[in-house]
Amino acid sequence: MARYTGPVCKLCRREGTKLFLKGTRCLTEKCAVERRAYAPGQHGQQMSRRRKASEYQKQLREKQKVKRTYGLNERQFRNAFERVRHQQGVTGHNLLVVLETRLDNVVYRMGFAPSRRASRQLVRHRHVEVNGNAVDIPSYAVRPGDEVQIRDKSKDLTSVRASLEALSRAVPVAWITVDADKASGKLTEIPTRDAIPLAAQEQLIVELYSK
Ligand code: SF4
Repeated sequence: MARYTGPVCKLCRREGTKLFLKGTRCLTEKCAVERRAYAPGQHGQQMSRRRKASEYQKQLREKQKVKRTYGLNERQFRNAFERVRHQQGVTGHNLLVVLETRLDNVVYRMGFAPSRRASRQLVRHRHVEVNGNAVDIPSYAVRPGDEVQIRDKSKDLTSVRASLEALSRAVPVAWITVDADKASGKLTEIPTRDAIPLAAQEQLIVELYSK
């Protein structure tokens, strides 16, 4: 299944919420959700006024929202769900943990890239190390205790430098520690649901995939 390469702001407008796909622009008044708070396309404004959504529509939209937030295609997202479907614990939370501990997401949460899309690019281009070894797999599962670092030769990349300079303004998550001087960070623990800054009703996704 192909990766989505179209305009990402459309995805936010379709979901009716900010998915923060464009880095710093998302925090400005240029954000498309701020300027045009209705679905994209010819019938977007009518769609936004439509009558109450069915249960299925709610579940589907929630799945699309989370999938698009993490920049995954359907197959990747479904695979993440299949990994946790029979695990102990709350399936929705387990799903978010798998998504949050992906290497591309951890690099983004550490503030080394302004968006998940940019952090995936850093990983793919071998600018990131885990425990001293270069890893170029965005879905690599980071475990508690793992040290994630921007490679020495990559610290001077303009995009990395800009992200490191903006680090003091980033909102840190409790389960990650960051050393901006070394451009490295550590995953300290598996995040609890409360510690994952994502406004989603993951239970709806579990219901959708359990049909
Ligand atoms: Fe979404 Fe960011 Fe575009 Fe706003 S600027 S619509 S949050 S991607």
